[in-house]
Amino acid sequence: MEPRIGAHIRVYRGLHTAFEIAGEYGADVLQIFTASPRQYRAKPLEADRIDPYIEAWREAGEPLVISHASYLINLASPKAGVRERAREALTLELERCAALRIPLLVLHMGSALNDDRERSMARLVTELNRLVPNVESDTRVLMETSAGQGSSIGCTFEEVGWVLERLEPAERFGTCLDTCHTFAAGYGLHGSAFDDTWAQYDEHVGLDRLDVLHLNDSKGELDSRVDRHDHIGNGHIGEEAFRRILRHERLRAVPCFIETPDDIEWHGKNLALLKSMARDTG
Ligand SMILES: [Zn+2]
Ligand SMILES: [Zn+2]
Repeated sequence: MEPRIGAHIRVYRGLHTAFEIAGEYGADVLQIFTASPRQYRAKPLEADRIDPYIEAWREAGEPLVISHASYLINLASPKAGVRERAREALTLELERCAALRIPLLVLHMGSALNDDRERSMARLVTELNRLVPNVESDTRVLMETSAGQGSSIGCTFEEVGWVLERLEPAERFGTCLDTCHTFAAGYGLHGSAFDDTWAQYDEHVGLDRLDVLHLNDSKGELDSRVDRHDHIGNGHIGEEAFRRILRHERLRAVPCFIETPDDIEWHGKNLALLKSMARDTG
C-alpha cells in the first residue's frame, strides 16, 4: 500500500471546503480544526454545517480526516479551574468529531507548570479516563509527542508510554508522533540514530500504538526544545530522514500529515516532495 500523505488544512469558508482545498494541494488525508484552536468554548455544530461537510466528504471518496484539539486544553494542569475548562472543551471537541465522523483526535498532553511531572501525568490520566468513555463518540484520542518546550509533558517516549499504558479503554487511545517535536526533544533521525529512535518508541510506547505521524522539519536543532516547524528538507532534520520514514516497512503504513508554514504557497510543494520520496525506490 502506498503511504497516505496529507496535510493540516486551514479552511476559510466553512469546514466543507476542506476537501476542495486538500485536492488542490494533493493531500490524500486531512487534519482540520473543528473550531478555533485558540478558544475554549466553541458552539456545537449545527446541522447546516454538518450536512454540507458530510456531503463533501462523501463526494471526495471518504478520505481519512483527523482533528487537532485546541492548544489551550491542559488536562495535566495543577489548577482545577484550568482542568475544568479543558474538560468542557474536550467534551465539545469529541462531540464535534462524532458529528463529523472523525475517527482520530490529536491532543497535546499538557504542561506541568510548577508541579511535579509524574503527578501532572497522573492528573492527565485521571481526567481522560473519566471523560473519554462518557462522551458519545467513538473517536480515538491521540497523545502527541512534545518538543519539551517549557514544562510540556510527553517529550520523552517514557512519558508518553507511562500515560498510554494507564489510559482505558485502550482502544479509545493512541499516539501521534511529530518529527519536529521529537527531534527538538533530543531524538536523532540521522544515520544510526534513526533506527535507534524508532526502536525506543517501539519499546516505550509501541509502534502498534502509533496512529498518526506529523511530518514537519525543524527550525530548531537536535535537543533545542524549540517547537518551530520548517518545510520538508529545509530544516535541521533534512530530506533523508523523511525518505527513510516513507520507505520504512512499518512507518509507511501510518497516515502522515504535514503542518508546515505558509500552506497556500507551500503545501503543494511539500506534499509533492514527500510523494516523490515515497515512490522513488532507487
Ligand atoms: Zn500538535
Ligand atoms: Zn509543533
